[in-house]
Amino acid sequence: AKHLGGDTFQFYNNQLQASTLERLQLEQQLRRAIEEGQLQAYYQPKLTLSDGVVRSAEALVRWNHPQRGLVSPGEFIPLAEETGLIGVISEMMLQQACEQALLWLQQGMPIRVSVNLSVSHVRQGNLVTLVQDVLKKTGLPAYLLELELTESQMLENAESIIATFKQLRELGVHLAIDDFGTGYSSLSYLKRFPANSVKIDQSFIRDVAENHEDAAITRAIIAMAHGLNLLVVAEGVETQAQMDFLHANLCDEVQGYLICRPVAAEQFTEFLLAHTAA
Ligand code: C2E
Ligand code: CA
Ligand code: CA
Ligand code: CA
Repeated sequence: AKHLGGDTFQFYNNQLQASTLERLQLEQQLRRAIEEGQLQAYYQPKLTLSDGVVRSAEALVRWNHPQRGLVSPGEFIPLAEETGLIGVISEMMLQQACEQALLWLQQGMPIRVSVNLSVSHVRQGNLVTLVQDVLKKTGLPAYLLELELTESQMLENAESIIATFKQLRELGVHLAIDDFGTGYSSLSYLKRFPANSVKIDQSFIRDVAENHEDAAITRAIIAMAHGLNLLVVAEGVETQAQMDFLHANLCDEVQGYLICRPVAAEQFTEFLLAHTAA
């Protein structure tokens, strides 16, 4: 790009340096955040459509940054994956979520919590031991823990992931395929993957009430998943029209802003109490 002239190149180069510096700063801040306990699990309920009961919640990481306030995972999970910090973050989330689920159980509100996994963490090889240790340490019954892995990530190292997840199923832990419909997995792979549920990706739900293609895809996913004995969860439900469509088409659970945004544990408890009170 010589013909662009010196100034243009200089500008481009500065931008590159700035972003490298920003990344380094972010990485340092993230390391400190982990040490100082600035990472917190938020929870978003999943509502069972047939009876209106909340039986599970997804744990979503939030960074309580002293200057910037709440930072969303999209801003630091990719960096955490590149730098290997994702392992520590996943462990913290697993620990927090299990402690919280046990507390809810002791308060008479059995809620299954789902924790998001990254494939880089699954590949580190000690996932089964880690999950076993956390369950033992916290005393949470395994059936109240669910692990979510995205469909696209499942396809990397498929064989070793299937083996690992079979061991997790033997512990009694539930497994969900996240962002389903975006990963192009073959049906035969789906058959061999020991999942309990699939989560239909938000991109299909957004226009499901108006768009024929999205409606057809969503109906097909529900039928196929039910045929394979899997529970179906729809993500990103924001409108009553979406919820009505999903109810009419026998989707099992819905998750989205229409029901509740991801909230801190205390607000989630309040939400539960408000929704179980007669
Ligand atoms: P995801 O697992 O697909 O999580 C769903 C995302 O959709 C969450 O974004 C949630 O806040 C958002 N959401 C929920 N309801 C609605 C809705 O009605 N409308 C819209 N537009 N969005 C909705 P969030 O919390 O920003 O997380 C983004 C992604 O970051 C997650 O996608 C997941 O891939 C990753 N992530 C979050 N927490 C963790 C974690 O603890 N570990 C790992 N490895 N990844 C995480
Ligand atoms: Ca998820
Ligand atoms: Ca998802
Ligand atoms: Ca996603």
